Amino acid sequence: MNIWELLERNGRKYSDKEAVVSGKDRLTYSDLRMSAYAMAAGLAHKGVKEGDRVVLCMPNTKEFVISYFAAMRLGAIIVPINAKLTKSEVDYILKDCGAKVFIIDHLLFSELGSIHANDLVKIKTGDSNTDWGSFEEFMGSKDSNDLAELLSKDDDPAAILYTSGTTGKPKGVLLTHRNLLSAAVMMCVEMEMKPESRILHLMPLSHSAPLHLFLIAGVYVGAMHILSPVFTPEKLLELVDKERATHFFGAPVAYLFAAKVPDRFKYDLSSMKYWVYGGAPLTAKEVHFIQGELGIKDLYCVYGLTEAGPSGTLLMPWEHQEKAGSIGKRAALGTEIRIVNENGEDAAPGEVGEIVLYGEGLMNGYYQNPVKTSEAFLGKWLKTGDLGKRDNDGYFWVVDRKKDLIISGGVNIYPKEVEEALLQHPLISEAAVVGVPHPEWGETVKAFIIAEKQIQDLPNECKLFLKEKLAPFKIPKLYEQIDALPRNATGKILKHVLKKEAEEKIEL
Ligand code: ATP
Repeated sequence: MNIWELLERNGRKYSDKEAVVSGKDRLTYSDLRMSAYAMAAGLAHKGVKEGDRVVLCMPNTKEFVISYFAAMRLGAIIVPINAKLTKSEVDYILKDCGAKVFIIDHLLFSELGSIHANDLVKIKTGDSNTDWGSFEEFMGSKDSNDLAELLSKDDDPAAILYTSGTTGKPKGVLLTHRNLLSAAVMMCVEMEMKPESRILHLMPLSHSAPLHLFLIAGVYVGAMHILSPVFTPEKLLELVDKERATHFFGAPVAYLFAAKVPDRFKYDLSSMKYWVYGGAPLTAKEVHFIQGELGIKDLYCVYGLTEAGPSGTLLMPWEHQEKAGSIGKRAALGTEIRIVNENGEDAAPGEVGEIVLYGEGLMNGYYQNPVKTSEAFLGKWLKTGDLGKRDNDGYFWVVDRKKDLIISGGVNIYPKEVEEALLQHPLISEAAVVGVPHPEWGETVKAFIIAEKQIQDLPNECKLFLKEKLAPFKIPKLYEQIDALPRNATGKILKHVLKKEAEEKIEL
């Protein structure tokens, strides 16, 4: 089966049913199918064929969805990239994947318009110019009857998703139609998606959870998709209310921001059945705060990574009371999870090891990178790069990312544990802890703090506060209060940016 077949079928089965709501535009499944087909014909006219890479740089708009399915109709490989990337980051990806087509939103033209590559078909929404074809003309002017039969099958490549680069240069994760379908089926079952579902998309569709777990899964069952090109906490609440949304996926910070919207109580959020978060955990304190401030109960946590499609594990609403902060005790449908020690054997309960996953969603490999691909697997198991442990009740906990682990004087320090202790301070709202090089200890610990007001004598205040909570070797030696933590488009803290900053300012 090819992903295109989902739309082909729904275009007929649910022809008059709304598929995509994007600003003032409302497309039925029939409109969406016809638009994607016409776009595919336009691309075919330019010589685009099976296996070509189509890079898509757009916020969440109807053109995103049309382009995505147009590429699927041709058996091409879609490469959705974040619309907030800089020109040099986009350039890197275009070269790395050997793009044939580059499609952008007109709002990105001032940043990306000067990008040049030989034989690259460049398309933008809005007017055309000498270098760039217009999306609308492309879609409208071609004879859509001349498309060749679609031959690509389950194990052919469908997408390359670049990892968000929180731990280094982004890597191209190659996923097949089978990978995408298995993630979609998992989600439809686990989150009870059905034709009546109304899925709200405010997180960038270029990322694997919003795209595969919500957009593709929703198309699988013929659900309606509400798209917003930008995230604001007010927009989230407003769209749930206005469109009676039933499913939403957001990073934890999206919920934390929404819970602070001053007039949040004026919105009717009662239609929402699945408030889903992932990409990072929420602590018990944060869960309590969000539930209280938004008056919601149904919080679901998903754990996964781009390389896993991103299927992993789930923590259900009723488990949050006792186990908030954990990633649940069972793998998502079609996935298996283990924690292995350095010898590749199962870790004992409570022992920290690496989380490994197996399932149909797992990537085919890193695009044209056999070395990194073989490093990513332990036999059939995908090494997640996450350190985890299983508690006595069978729940899995992400202890930290392997790359963020601090080794000071030969002892392991997990930044997350230190961050959680700092967050208990009444004035501290956010904290990020990194290791910085130290001549004697190898690394020493530095904490970046966000607080509601300037904390007097920050180092002593924090050290005193942490004394009762952490062993002395874990207590940061260096502190800095800053205005905001550097985050990527999905809200993840960019630790490597902080680490670099800390190294530049080193004053041991
Ligand atoms: P890069 O690989 O380039 O650094 P990235 O890892 O941020 O980018 P993603 O695939 O989006 O790219 O993120 C997956 C990682 O996010 C997981 O390996 C894990 O560390 C973290 N993560 C995902 N979901 C959760 C969760 N529910 N709880 C804790 N951590 C999570």
